[in-house]
Amino acid sequence: MRNKIVAGNWKMNLSFNEAQELVDELLDRLEEQEDLKCEVILCPPFPYLELLTDFEFDVQLYNVGAQNCAAYEKGAYTGEVSPSMLKSLDVDYCIVGHSERRKYFNETDAMLAEKVNRLVENEMSPIFCVGELLEERESNRHLEVVRQQVEQGLFHLNAEAFGKVLIAYEPVWAIGTGKTATPDQAQEMHAFIRDLVRKKYGDKVADKIRILYGGSCNAGNATAVFSQPDVDGGLIGGASLKAEDFVSICIQASQL
Ligand code: PEP
Repeated sequence: MRNKIVAGNWKMNLSFNEAQELVDELLDRLEEQEDLKCEVILCPPFPYLELLTDFEFDVQLYNVGAQNCAAYEKGAYTGEVSPSMLKSLDVDYCIVGHSERRKYFNETDAMLAEKVNRLVENEMSPIFCVGELLEERESNRHLEVVRQQVEQGLFHLNAEAFGKVLIAYEPVWAIGTGKTATPDQAQEMHAFIRDLVRKKYGDKVADKIRILYGGSCNAGNATAVFSQPDVDGGLIGGASLKAEDFVSICIQASQL
């Protein structure tokens, strides 16, 4: 039985004061949920990470993730943030290969594989994003595209390192568009990815890996998508900026 995970990707949004307000409201709302069974991960922009890592809880309300990291360990890489710097702030997760980074920052599979390596070396968990463009789905190439992304970004890892990875299936045409994949489309791709993992790493690893869905997921559609057998929760963009909606998604995940 895999616990669901709900991760919020704030992207490049909010002023410091707005981020502080969101954190306060999230804390209030999460604290009210005495028996939340899903794992919550919050991924703010770099300058706001400490707003989230500074708390000590009796019960862990959430984990913290970054949205990106350097492919290098340290040194003369102006403007970059390394996994070991993130780890020293108690950040345990990092999104890698979001389609916006692949598109606007030309991140290649080879570069992403290096980021994954630096993260697992630092005992952090990559949230590795994969997903096809609309034209790739329309020409029925979606499975092949995602297979390549998974193989090239992750399959060089040994089974132990791979055990730290989460995968997020995010069809590019569904991100920020209000157009969600249907539960059947999500299930088809998640089952396909789990099967790739099974063939490469065996049953134990495949049954354990968490595969999240992302793409216009909100409080109105979370239950339908998350109730699919191979969907282990969600990576939430826009709806993670509203505490009420985000916590509603967490509650829905927790009830499945
Ligand atoms: C995302 O960017 O990871 C995402 C899923 O965005 P949205 O929920 O806004 O579609």
